[in-house]
Amino acid sequence: MADRQGQNYDVIVVGAGNAALAAAVSASENGAKRVVVLEKAPREMRGGNTHWSGGVLRFAFDDPREIGPLLPGVEDEYENFYDGIAPYTQSDFHGDLMRVTNGRTDPVLSKLLVAKSQETVKWMKDVGGIKMEPATTLSAVKKGNVMVWARGLVVRAAHEGVGLSRSWFATAERLGVDIRYGTAAIELLVGGDGRVNGVKVRDDDGISTFNARSVVLGCGGFEANVQMRTQHIGALVGAAKVRGTPHNQGDGLRMAMNIGAMPWGQWSGCHATPISADWGDFAPRELTDRSNRLSYVYAVMFNLKGRRFVDEGEDGALFTYAKFGRAVLAEPGSKAWQIFDSKTVHLLEPRYQTSRPITANTLEDLIEQLDFADKAQALKTMREYNAAARGPEDGFDPTKKDGLSSKGLALEKTNWALRIDKPPFYAYSTTGGITFTFGGLKTTEHAQVVGTDWRPIKGLFCCGEMVGGLFYDNYPAGTGLVSGATFGRIAGRNAATMA
Ligand SMILES: Cc1cc2nc3c(=O)[nH]c(=O)nc-3n(C[C@H](O)[C@H](O)[C@H](O)COP(=O)(O)OP(=O)(O)OC[C@H]3O[C@@H](n4cnc5c(N)ncnc54)[C@H](O)[C@@H]3O)c2cc1C
Repeated sequence: MADRQGQNYDVIVVGAGNAALAAAVSASENGAKRVVVLEKAPREMRGGNTHWSGGVLRFAFDDPREIGPLLPGVEDEYENFYDGIAPYTQSDFHGDLMRVTNGRTDPVLSKLLVAKSQETVKWMKDVGGIKMEPATTLSAVKKGNVMVWARGLVVRAAHEGVGLSRSWFATAERLGVDIRYGTAAIELLVGGDGRVNGVKVRDDDGISTFNARSVVLGCGGFEANVQMRTQHIGALVGAAKVRGTPHNQGDGLRMAMNIGAMPWGQWSGCHATPISADWGDFAPRELTDRSNRLSYVYAVMFNLKGRRFVDEGEDGALFTYAKFGRAVLAEPGSKAWQIFDSKTVHLLEPRYQTSRPITANTLEDLIEQLDFADKAQALKTMREYNAAARGPEDGFDPTKKDGLSSKGLALEKTNWALRIDKPPFYAYSTTGGITFTFGGLKTTEHAQVVGTDWRPIKGLFCCGEMVGGLFYDNYPAGTGLVSGATFGRIAGRNAATMA
């Protein structure tokens, strides 16, 4: 066998999701000649959570027409396309980040992310070769003959995460990036000058090393690692079903901390969403993100004791889904039921089609069929809710927070609080699924990893889920991919410059 020690590159990128491939493409674009991507997964499982994702991209724009270059010909396909899009300024985007993270998002990194967001998405298209499309099924609701879009969430990668991942690989290959599948980074190598200068890997042939002037870590969080989830987030999330790749086991975080990197951000926090309770412990790759059950804003959600436990209408689902999964996990049996009536069932997002609801013509019959520990309580809760809820004539509007609140409940539903009274009725099972973890590494605006001595570790960069400090408690939909590409692009550029 050839000597496998000391394979030399300019830049080593660990991981092959959106962030890592953005870094590899950026390193190439910025002059690095020999770039290698180390992907732990075999080729048929390549691409990390990026493959599973909905591909939706949140970015700022002052004028909706700034979106135009991303979606050529969109006005031929959608009549009055721009009429249904409200401006989403940098201040709006940053305000959303601040609001959902209770003011804790990293002030430097979050401002950079927001300021670069539109430019990043355009770079993904122009340099990354990623085709874009309107995110119709996720973020648009039809009102008259106009599609009304959720703020800041209009565009996604064509063919969602599958298309996004495939396009990144195609572009990296076209640029001559060497991609090694089934190759797990297991250790960072550090020279006597304190500089990271290589990676030790394990593949089918054993252990070998790769050397380079700089290393970019883009190998995800610890969402698929039951021990780390349990240790850092707690037993309930420890038992959660995993929505994405089984390969994000916290390897990069551990490797970096082993050489003195500083943990940063909310290690006890994660993105966890309501998903179908029927799914297995890991989401099937071919069904990508179709486990999600996010139309609860039009439902009432009951725990198995027959009680409500969140304000389902606190905000648009794309601002509450990332924390409500954890809320479901905290309920008895980590399970809930979402109950809809026929007034709103047409508003359910298409992903609900991956499971069959339980249906009935009366609420009594419906509740009888569900596995409530206390069916009498469930019926009582439903009746109390209906007595406090409102009718469509009171101003129900699915295109915005309509302020249609229940009146008189200990836990109000503060928007879209329609009575559940029009048969047939539908119940969808729900549990919490973990998407990704919030804890990461302390990272500079140049994407350098910082040590516990508060100095950047020479030659080491990180991006994507590994960047700590952006998200606390909650997360605005569509930010993960834009963050990954923004910091991946910066990491790749700086790694190339150093090489
Ligand atoms: C179901 C689902 C839907 C989502 N939808 C959206 C959405 O619509 N919009 C959005 O913005 N975000 C979405 N997200 C979140 C988004 O997918 C992630 O934030 C993003 O993909 C993370 O990118 P990443 O490159 O950091 O990690 P990943 O894409 O997970 O890539 C990590 C890579 O590292 C590799 N790896 C791990 N360990 C090693 C090792 N030791 N050595 C070598 N390689 C290793 C993995 O195999 C993988 O290739 C979704 C996530 C999921 C799971």
